[in-house]
Amino acid sequence: MNALRPAVIAVASGKGGTGKTTMAVHLALASARTRATLLVDLDVEAPDVLGYFPMVEPLEAPSSVSVAVPRLVGAFCTGCGLCANSCRFGAIIAIGGVVTIDEKVCKGCGRCVAVCPAGALVEGRVEVGAMVESRVGALSLLEGRMAVGDIRSTAVIDAAKRRAAELGGAAHIRDCPPGISCPATHAMEGADFVILVAEPTRFSAHDLFGAMRYVRDRGLAAGILINKYGFGSVDIEELADREGLPVVGRVAFERDRAGAGAAGRLWESNGDFMRQMEDLVTTLIDMGNSSRGGFR
Ligand code: SF4
Ligand code: SF4
Repeated sequence: MNALRPAVIAVASGKGGTGKTTMAVHLALASARTRATLLVDLDVEAPDVLGYFPMVEPLEAPSSVSVAVPRLVGAFCTGCGLCANSCRFGAIIAIGGVVTIDEKVCKGCGRCVAVCPAGALVEGRVEVGAMVESRVGALSLLEGRMAVGDIRSTAVIDAAKRRAAELGGAAHIRDCPPGISCPATHAMEGADFVILVAEPTRFSAHDLFGAMRYVRDRGLAAGILINKYGFGSVDIEELADREGLPVVGRVAFERDRAGAGAAGRLWESNGDFMRQMEDLVTTLIDMGNSSRGGFR
């Protein structure tokens, strides 16, 4: 491990609505009190971290995220169909020697361009999203967001992860998409620790089960943060224990705090809660330092 890179903590969940983003925001705010911290919104289909900071202005204009898509040079095309056969995403069809490219479906892998024996495909670029950087107090923010109507979320997530790596710092807190779909797993990938936020309800337990299996099968270091502790009737601790994952924290259910969270208001004035968040980040970073050689 490169000892100069930031510790990366991914905050994920089995389902939406467990308080995942709220936890990510407050973990980052607490962490920023003592170390250079970047909060990365990788929930690019529905980024809402900036909703907690309505007065924050972007540091500069959003930077575009694009992918390379093939464009047909019809005069060179022999109609051989190799490009269509090579595309695993069904973005090219070749019928009767006529090639049609669906740019909206293309993932930009470049395979078709590489296999075309006639040089009839050239790369063009299409915008799939954007990144916005901002700062609130000591905390740096990076938001990835998809272009309206686009489906290539993983390209935006990868771009935001690359930009986060360039920005450096001591700790990165990622707000991941909920669930274990492709965007969610992309967002978790490469993290030093994954926090799965769960609430003690049947819906949460059901979806948490899949997320726990995913992190376990991928060999990711992970633990469960139980939000709204004492609210529902499902024993998340027993579930976590059965799957061999530690419970890394319990945030008690408080009606006022839940109301603030639902309204996108910060809980920074709650000293006990913020200390809990800071202790959790510090513990995870210390764990990483002792088991994997150290962070910045
Ligand atoms: S670049 Fe990749 S995804 Fe796009 S059309 Fe070519 S093979 Fe398919
Ligand atoms: S591989 Fe090239 S030459 Fe063959 S059909 Fe596709 S674009 Fe045309």
